[in-house]
Amino acid sequence: MFRIGHGYDIHRTLAGRPLVLGGVRIPCDFGLDGHSDADCLTHAICDALLGAAGLPDIGHHFPNTDPTFKNIDSQVLLRRVVADLSQRGWKISNIDSSLIAEKPKIAPHLAAMKSALAASTGLTPEQIGVKATTNETIDDIGRGLAMAAHAVALIERA
Ligand code: MG
Repeated sequence: MFRIGHGYDIHRTLAGRPLVLGGVRIPCDFGLDGHSDADCLTHAICDALLGAAGLPDIGHHFPNTDPTFKNIDSQVLLRRVVADLSQRGWKISNIDSSLIAEKPKIAPHLAAMKSALAASTGLTPEQIGVKATTNETIDDIGRGLAMAAHAVALIERA
């Protein structure tokens, strides 16, 4: 039995904050604003996995009002989501994701993101798609005021 899930996330950019995407710290003079490390790519993946299992979204599991999750590494959250699915008898078939960011250049970091996400999910890098595109200067993402991510995940009965 297979189930598919979809996730979406968006965070505002913020000067002086570390930029973490797909579990990788990317050299940049701005990062993303948020309660956790604000890794929107990993958050979208968490929501795709939770959605596939019919579970509530990431905000339900890790509320941004809980000081426990202040500046937390989102790979910790992803690992918890994977463990939760595993306990419920699900294994992940594959994940695909798209990051939308005007800058910095993401391509040099894609392989490292896939490795980090593979380590957190127990998948091989070949089971994880990470793609990046700009928003062609259109709207607030295109002006560099925010970054967004979409993800889908397929899970199957273990
Ligand atoms: Mg988020």
